[in-house]
Amino acid sequence: MSKSVQKEKAPINWTATIMFIVTTGVAVTLVPWYGMTYGYETSTWVSYLVLTWITGMAITGGYHRLWSHNAYDAHPILRVWYALWGAAALENTILDWCSGHRVHHRHCDDVDKDPYSAKRGLWFSHMGWMIREYPSGRVDFANVKNLMKDPIVMWQYKYYVPIVFAMNIGVPLALGLIFGDVWGMLLLAGFLRIVTTHHVTFFINSIAHKWGSQPYTDENTARDNAFFAFLTHGEGYHNYHHIFQTDYRNGIRWFHWDPTKWFIKGCSYVGLTSNLRTVPDFKIRRAMVKMQFKRAQEKLAKAENSEKWTELLEKEYEKYHAMLNEWAEAQSEKLDETRKQLKEKWEKNAIRQQYHELEEQLHEQSQRIKSLMAEYKASVA
Ligand SMILES: [Zn+2]
Ligand SMILES: [Zn+2]
Repeated sequence: MSKSVQKEKAPINWTATIMFIVTTGVAVTLVPWYGMTYGYETSTWVSYLVLTWITGMAITGGYHRLWSHNAYDAHPILRVWYALWGAAALENTILDWCSGHRVHHRHCDDVDKDPYSAKRGLWFSHMGWMIREYPSGRVDFANVKNLMKDPIVMWQYKYYVPIVFAMNIGVPLALGLIFGDVWGMLLLAGFLRIVTTHHVTFFINSIAHKWGSQPYTDENTARDNAFFAFLTHGEGYHNYHHIFQTDYRNGIRWFHWDPTKWFIKGCSYVGLTSNLRTVPDFKIRRAMVKMQFKRAQEKLAKAENSEKWTELLEKEYEKYHAMLNEWAEAQSEKLDETRKQLKEKWEKNAIRQQYHELEEQLHEQSQRIKSLMAEYKASVA
């Protein structure tokens, strides 16, 4: 089926469409009208902000990093929390969300298979994919079988609709009664929260696949974007995420704005999370240096009289490969040996030392490519 036929013939998904019309409609009409007519209490605004934060984090920490990617393990208390607030986000059940997301990673950008392929345009990847029943959006739970063993996931799946009502109407209603602003609370902490949380999540599929940098890979459209990381609880470091999806972090540097990472790490100190998975630094550096080479090669290939520079770069590239090969060999030798006799502790230390050396070497090489390209730039200026 061609792309255009698929687009024209896909029937409208009325459940999603009505849901979007109602929530957006209320948010752009009743919310400002009520504010101008009666005003909102400070407690109502604070509730809106807190609940928006909690709802968003249930999607990023729970639906995304925990359930879609198994980036860490979570205590049942935290899983129940995520299941409840994830339902409050009104982004479908854990099973549906994670199944679609795993397909997105597996077939990223494929216009026929990726449910929210960025190659089908900004609107499609943002919301368009949900308002019609495209074949690419059909879910098959075969890829979430591991989640079906989680009783909390299955409980949320079974009682999704009552949980949605309890979290989106029940909770704001209760808060409204406590703070004496029932309608205000329903409008802000209910409707407006849903709409803002929606778009914040949708940005990751649309904007984080369009604007930003690609420091680790250019094999897909995913981008790193610090500004959107700020809006999306850290998910804006999407280029990193697409290459190293099992890492519980998306922003890997300490200064990267990634509250989801901080929350997961914080929970580990009180036993709510464990087995936090990270990608070894040397692998991250390897990917970065590889991208640097690629960019430098492309640049020099286009330029005239760049033979000398190309040659220098090629030499660096040979060194890079030799370094990686040497390292891989040392690794396998060491592993063979340890299998025979060496103590586990010693092995860990030795490997850590090697990782460290390799990281240093890659770092130095990255600096050399940078200065090489800077020199080249100066020479042609
Ligand atoms: Zn992901
Ligand atoms: Zn993506």
